[in-house]
Amino acid sequence: MSSSRLPAASRIEVSCIHMRPSLPLVLVLLSSPLCAQNWFHPSILEKPEMRHALQSVDARAGAIVEEWIRLTEIPAPSGKEQARSAYIRAEMEKLRLSEIRTDKVFNVSGVRKGTGRGPTVVFAAHLDTVFPESTRLEVKRDGGILHAPGIGDDTSNLTATLEMFRALDRGDVHTRGDLIFLATAQEELGLLGARHWLETSGYKPDMFVAVDLSSTQVWYGALRINQFKFFYTAPGAHTMESRGAPSPAKAVAKAISAVYEIPLPPLAEGLDGFRLPVINVGMLGGGTVFNAVPREAWFTVDLRSLDSPTQDRLHTAVLSAARRAAEEESVGFRVERKLGIDYSKALPRSVRLNHPVVQTALAAGNYFRKPGTPPIEPMDVGSTDANIAVSMGIPAVAIGAVREQLPHRLEEHAEAASIVPGIKSLLALAVSLTAH
Ligand SMILES: [Zn+2]
Repeated sequence: MSSSRLPAASRIEVSCIHMRPSLPLVLVLLSSPLCAQNWFHPSILEKPEMRHALQSVDARAGAIVEEWIRLTEIPAPSGKEQARSAYIRAEMEKLRLSEIRTDKVFNVSGVRKGTGRGPTVVFAAHLDTVFPESTRLEVKRDGGILHAPGIGDDTSNLTATLEMFRALDRGDVHTRGDLIFLATAQEELGLLGARHWLETSGYKPDMFVAVDLSSTQVWYGALRINQFKFFYTAPGAHTMESRGAPSPAKAVAKAISAVYEIPLPPLAEGLDGFRLPVINVGMLGGGTVFNAVPREAWFTVDLRSLDSPTQDRLHTAVLSAARRAAEEESVGFRVERKLGIDYSKALPRSVRLNHPVVQTALAAGNYFRKPGTPPIEPMDVGSTDANIAVSMGIPAVAIGAVREQLPHRLEEHAEAASIVPGIKSLLALAVSLTAH
């Protein structure tokens, strides 16, 4: 491929790190914008083992799509991933991965050992889908497009990651670092499986790759998300006796308008249609009859931004607006919160962006992207298993192996043929990251 297809980062590559310097030096070097570290060099694709591995993916193109369809048709609603987990475990056993483990939430992981002294890199795809068990999952083919709920998110990437590990074996490709194949559970419930695995497995990976997007995307951030449910209570009264009585309904009305009056910072740029930071009231309710003051009324807030200082400031503003309405209306008040993720250990933005795991993913993704399509631009967002790694300060990226659309909808679909270059891109990334 011509170098014009590579992103700017790979053209300005400088010889910062080819040995493994100490962590403080890495942080200094990676903080420099000129020091964007791409470890993917197309010449590695010419090595005989890699050529063999890559050709083996072409040779199995039909079989890979067949397996992708079979996996899509195994139901895997969050919390009920056992069947898919068992399937992946059986394939890990055939590959003779080391340390194959299924944990209590049905995450399954296995290690492809390196020859030593290289970084340990996790490739994670999630087992679960957002669709309830009763959903019809039959895959329909329409020309080169596959249609089914879950065909993309995340069955396509689970299939591609499995096949990437097989292709490494077929090519007899050796890496210095260990490669961990992790199939996570309960991703759609709030990244619960990845959190459980990273906190309890005992592994301390050097890099974490979540394979959970369309192949047109590379994300290196983590959305800050806080969700609240605010309740307002009062003794209640018949309408006839309600003049001047404390009203939870009125408090909710006042609180919601105050929440929407909180000034938001300017829109973050480069987010391809996402409009952040944002505060959204998603649900509201209360009361049971026309002719009484409700004894309880409530509403919810979903607060999202890209960095902790902004999120913390908006978090405080939302809470005080909600509480003030209760005080002004003399009604009872309580808050339920969905547990957020603590990002106090996350690396700064420029360090995350310039890290080899992101720059190498970008270079490999662009090298193998569909000819004639626009270059992939990295985005400082994230709502994948990589968020947990980001929160722990582990260099992380989210990528994808298939061109796919409409995740979480019954109309979800994906380009069947795109999985072949997608798997090749994963191979290039895995080998580039663990060669060091
Ligand atoms: Zn997903």
